[in-house]
Amino acid sequence: MSNKEENRKQNCGSEQQRVGCALGGIYTALAINNVLPVLHSGPGCQLQSGTVLAKLNGGQNAYPYQETIIPCTDFSEADVIFGGSERFRKVIASSMKYYKTDLIVAVDGCTAEIVGDDIKEVAESFEGSDVPVIYATLPGFKGNNLYGHSQVLKAIIDQFLDGPVEKVEKQVNVWGIVPFYDATWQGTLVGIEKLLKDLGFKPNIIYGRNKGIEEVKKIPQAEWNLLLSPWLDLDIVKKLEKKYQTPFLHFDHVPSGPTETTKLIRAIAEFADLDKEFVEDYIRDGEEEYYYYISRQLASINEGINLPKTFSLIGSAAAAVSTVRFMVNDLGFVPKKVYIVENVPEKHEEAVRNALYDLELEDKDFELVFTDDGGLPAAELLQEETPGEVILGSTWDEVLARDLNATFFPISVPIGPGLIGRKSYFGYTGGVDFFVDFYTRLLEGGRTSI
Ligand code: SF4
Repeated sequence: MSNKEENRKQNCGSEQQRVGCALGGIYTALAINNVLPVLHSGPGCQLQSGTVLAKLNGGQNAYPYQETIIPCTDFSEADVIFGGSERFRKVIASSMKYYKTDLIVAVDGCTAEIVGDDIKEVAESFEGSDVPVIYATLPGFKGNNLYGHSQVLKAIIDQFLDGPVEKVEKQVNVWGIVPFYDATWQGTLVGIEKLLKDLGFKPNIIYGRNKGIEEVKKIPQAEWNLLLSPWLDLDIVKKLEKKYQTPFLHFDHVPSGPTETTKLIRAIAEFADLDKEFVEDYIRDGEEEYYYYISRQLASINEGINLPKTFSLIGSAAAAVSTVRFMVNDLGFVPKKVYIVENVPEKHEEAVRNALYDLELEDKDFELVFTDDGGLPAAELLQEETPGEVILGSTWDEVLARDLNATFFPISVPIGPGLIGRKSYFGYTGGVDFFVDFYTRLLEGGRTSI
């Protein structure tokens, strides 16, 4: 058996975890300052999601509630026999006493759901307490962490937020970025906040540094919602439209680089009826900044080096659309094959497909594959005659890239244990950072981790 065939066998399979189970939805709660998830699940459940969403995804951990101190009932055999609701109630009561928190999200995993513990009743029994308690059922058998993310946000909207309120002029909520799952969420949200402020808005973002319960309470006041993803959080902005009559602008990805960032700004300008001259001046300045820095590097990368021009990508839909648009529209690369490995619900596949093929490229003959088998891309690409000279993906795909003699560049969960800080590829300056990181990787031979 050849080395390649041996590698294909090793790479083929669903063991390459690229999503967490539904319980990973707790990371959405953990991204909101002082919101504490309390778990009614097995002792290992948190770890299962935490490894792929946080530790191996940019070396992230939760803050201020680090994973090791998140309260959990550590569901046991006795709970299976006698039920664990009373113990869960006690753990929530103790959490209220010993943790400084603004909101508790009571969640359960598979075993509590299967034995029928009623966490709704448990959460509601705390009505009137100093700290509000809401609940979200997050058993892994119902879906992955993206399902869990949606469940947590719906719980906040349905159980925590009040009825209709006065709108605040110029306030905009931002959706579509899943904290932790998108390792660059912190830096990206900071960048989006700055962009919206520059355009004269009052951005309201609920995740990240200094973003907590006050921002959550402001959600209903927004004049409109900005959704930046092919499909994630579409259910959330629709829910907010129904409950608070808040319209939304759906831009299908987080843009990187000049082409797509300019499109986003123009879309916002049209939606919110901004002054055209002001907006075009802002765009001119942003594009000039991008090309200034890129031009200063071009001489170094054009010195007779034979650089690659084709790539394949394996990742989440959000990472795929953002990256493919930048790689094609601004860097002039040609995609060979794109694998979306997050189990996109069938009803959203067309939206992802449309977003991915909306490119400034004549021959869009690359293949798009939706799969929940993380091992499939390696199994197929190792058999392709022209799999692409660059592999963009998660840390799992680094070995594949080596086997294909291709350059590896991490763009999707889990990106690896290297630290992420507040790195982001959003916007004009994010495009410069992508360009620099990517070409550095190409020039160095592309063999190091992020
Ligand atoms: S799938 Fe169920 S049992 Fe497994 S980690 Fe997730 S919640 Fe726990």
